[in-house]
Amino acid sequence: MSTPAPATPPTHQPLLVVAIDGTSASGKSSTARCVARALNAIYVDTGAMYRTLAWYCLQQRLDIHDEKAVATACRKWVTKLECVDQKVRLLVGGYYPEKEIRTAETSAAVAHVAAVPKVRDWMKKRQRDCVQFGPLVMEGRDIGTNVFPETEFKFYLDANLDERNKRRAAEGVQENLAARDQRDSQRASAPLMIALGARVINNSVLTLEATSQLIIDDVRARATWPK
Ligand code: C5P
Repeated sequence: MSTPAPATPPTHQPLLVVAIDGTSASGKSSTARCVARALNAIYVDTGAMYRTLAWYCLQQRLDIHDEKAVATACRKWVTKLECVDQKVRLLVGGYYPEKEIRTAETSAAVAHVAAVPKVRDWMKKRQRDCVQFGPLVMEGRDIGTNVFPETEFKFYLDANLDERNKRRAAEGVQENLAARDQRDSQRASAPLMIALGARVINNSVLTLEATSQLIIDDVRARATWPK
């Protein structure tokens, strides 16, 4: 009697996800985009995903303070993830609300919907699904702590509040960053915090290029990132 062939051994592919977390207006988006380009990876803006839900709730005239209503909307909305020009987009009803999610109204609503635990569970699943598109540079508030805690590439960006206010004002946006950071840091579910093992970069006096280069060099120096 022949012995059955051994099962194919699992191929332990390394997880290629660079997690960039940090406070609002700490330069995460510009830095993550720059790092993704240099590493030939896919850029994922998870804040945009939460903003899309906030915008959708406002469109539906839902009370964004009503946790149950927000959780139900998140369970029922019809969405799709797609990757265009090396960037992931979340579409709702086939539409990508690129501009609408950046308004002051959406910015003021987003931290409320992001605090709902069922929303966070839903987002985490979609964000983990993004590995289907290839190696990722993913920015947010809980990527290193909650979405991909197993990645070895974790960074936390910060800058002093004055500098961050200046950066937002230069973009023509007036908002209470301190209030949003406080809400993000104090929520019970996956709050903003520094992940264990994350490299903290305070870029108050660093340029975008310098901040990005620190991350690029660090990632490239590890044996697991493809050369
Ligand atoms: O990064 P951005 O400012 O666009 O994020 C908008 C908001 O989305 C954050 O203030 C936070 O409330 C929420 N968020 C989150 N977790 C993430 C990304 C964003 O809670 N991973």
